[in-house]
Amino acid sequence: MSDPHQHWIDLRSDTVTQPCAAMRAAMAAAPVGDDVYADDPTVNRLQDFAAELFGYEAGLFAPSGTQTNLIALLAHCGRGDEYLVGQEAHTYKYEGGGAAVLGSIQPQPIANQPDGSIALADIAAYIKPDDMHFARTRLLALENTIGGRVLPRDYLQAATALAHERGLATHLDGARVCNAAVKDGTSLREAVAGFDTVSVCLSKGLGAPVGSVLLGPKAFIEQGKRWRKMLGGGMRQAGVIAAAAHHALEHNVERLADDHRNAADLAAGLAGIDGLRVTAPQTNIFYVEIPGAACAPLREHLARQGIRASIGPHTRLVTHLDVGSADVQKVIAAFKDFFKDWRA
Ligand SMILES: *Cc1c(COP(=O)(O)O)cnc(C)c1O
Repeated sequence: MSDPHQHWIDLRSDTVTQPCAAMRAAMAAAPVGDDVYADDPTVNRLQDFAAELFGYEAGLFAPSGTQTNLIALLAHCGRGDEYLVGQEAHTYKYEGGGAAVLGSIQPQPIANQPDGSIALADIAAYIKPDDMHFARTRLLALENTIGGRVLPRDYLQAATALAHERGLATHLDGARVCNAAVKDGTSLREAVAGFDTVSVCLSKGLGAPVGSVLLGPKAFIEQGKRWRKMLGGGMRQAGVIAAAAHHALEHNVERLADDHRNAADLAAGLAGIDGLRVTAPQTNIFYVEIPGAACAPLREHLARQGIRASIGPHTRLVTHLDVGSADVQKVIAAFKDFFKDWRA
């Protein structure tokens, strides 16, 4: 179905980006070695660079964010331990229940507030007393951004302080934490302050083809390396992809502001269309409520115009480095064109 030479405007996710020429050149030129022996200079350089950038002792490169999150959960929690997590969180909802399935770690899911946070009172209330009836509550895991929303800095400060006071460790699923930092105008170090460990995706808005890094204390990362090996994430000449990840971290953080502006422009354009309800984007992800009966014909209409989107009653639209401002105008025009003729 797909013609590889056609330029699709793809709004399904920020994972769909193509590596640019400079990124491919960096991959081609990367010196490599066997990373299971810690011999790959490009992987080592990426891990050190990321650790320094976010203010941690050490870093661990892995094939996916699902894996870096799972490694973190396995290293923080043992069998019969528990972690506190949002109902909407990726680690709980979208990672196949890996912590429970593979780690015998009990998740304690907690309702997310409308702004994406977990209420401090809920965190406090769900921490179990030291009693043989209960799983041992070990970890608070938060996600930022979550559904495109940026958690407030003072909330993150308070939530991580509360967790630490109660003897819990803190982990951030920072798949899109760079979007949060750019939106807030803070440094990456400030954006992850308070978290013992963080997982950062390099293959989302940052535009690398593959890979995530887990950051934390040296001893934790050493433990993480064992889990990574067990999970099959010990890669050999991984410098080829680490070079792309390094390029992404070095060149593609500041430009996330363009994605945020494009999302705002797209949302504003769609909000003007009768029958659509559009949430105001904070970063590069927002949602549109679309009448159910319009979904299938709209999806086909957009596809004919070279636009891919996960159209449904609750549609998520995502901008990224392969969606330009002209593309945004084209998408708005295509939606307008469809809805001028559409009647329920
Ligand atoms: C994408 C994503 C991950 C990890 O996804 P992978 O596809 O496994 O790299 C983790 N958390 C969040 C919030 C994500 O969006």
